[in-house]
Amino acid sequence: MGRFAPSPTGPLHLGSLYTALASYLDARQHKGLWLLRIDDLDTPRNMPGACAEILNCLQSFGLHWDGEVDYQSYHLDQYEQAIVELQSRHVLYPCTCSRSLLANSPLIYPGHCRTKAQSTNAPHSLRVKTPNISTRFVDKLQGEISQNLANEHGDFVVKRKDGIIAYQLACVVDDQRQSVNRVVRGYDLLDSTPKQLYLQQLLGYQTPSYMHIPLIVDQEGNKLSKQTRAEAVNPHQAGPTLFLLLTLLQQNPPLDLRMTPIDSILEWAIAHWQPERLAKTQTVSDLKHQQ
Ligand code: GLU
Ligand code: ZN
Repeated sequence: MGRFAPSPTGPLHLGSLYTALASYLDARQHKGLWLLRIDDLDTPRNMPGACAEILNCLQSFGLHWDGEVDYQSYHLDQYEQAIVELQSRHVLYPCTCSRSLLANSPLIYPGHCRTKAQSTNAPHSLRVKTPNISTRFVDKLQGEISQNLANEHGDFVVKRKDGIIAYQLACVVDDQRQSVNRVVRGYDLLDSTPKQLYLQQLLGYQTPSYMHIPLIVDQEGNKLSKQTRAEAVNPHQAGPTLFLLLTLLQQNPPLDLRMTPIDSILEWAIAHWQPERLAKTQTVSDLKHQQ
């Protein structure tokens, strides 16, 4: 079971469609379902209309998902249950640190609030105590990854001060709830994986396999995003765009595929999907392939 989990912060750009396509091909080649989840918990960042745009865009590129679209915002009670579960394991503590204190602290949270009283009326986030041992996993493309959560990440937030469930926790609850066992996502989330493995372990969840695919970067080496020059993909150019994405996925699509209907492009791509061609690759540049 695979999934694609975009945040509704804007229309899909080439980078997000690249991830969508890779996870789609991976799921379909393994005859698995491909689920669509909208990561809409970070409400201040949600953009009105973005969901509909994302759904339409995936459809016009032939990336049809299985079942109903899943929205994180429908599952708030399940995230709260996970918080209660973590609390019963005594691994959470309230953090009252102000934004300015954190801004002046080193990148890794130094644990100011770890030893303070366990209950407070002041506004607080909830952090999880991280263990001082190395967490190891094997990424299908990036190989063996080993990180010490305490030294390299520090105690991280599972529920924000504004009451919003943090991505790390929501993601593991969602993947478990949806029985996702193959995660294909962008390289920028590689660093989140040890945190997610730790939460899965605390909550007694299954751990899926992980494949972190490269990020598409522009001329200056910046990840494509709305902040850079990433434009929304054009659904009227679906065939050539899919062809470009397959090229960027190092799949060497035959030239005559470029002008065939999208269903035949996808059919070819599923049959020939060889993700190992991206092994150890962290970024790919869209430049030299641009039509
Ligand atoms: N919503 C996340 C993003 O757009 C993806 C989460 C995931 O695939 O784990 O970056
Ligand atoms: Zn604190």
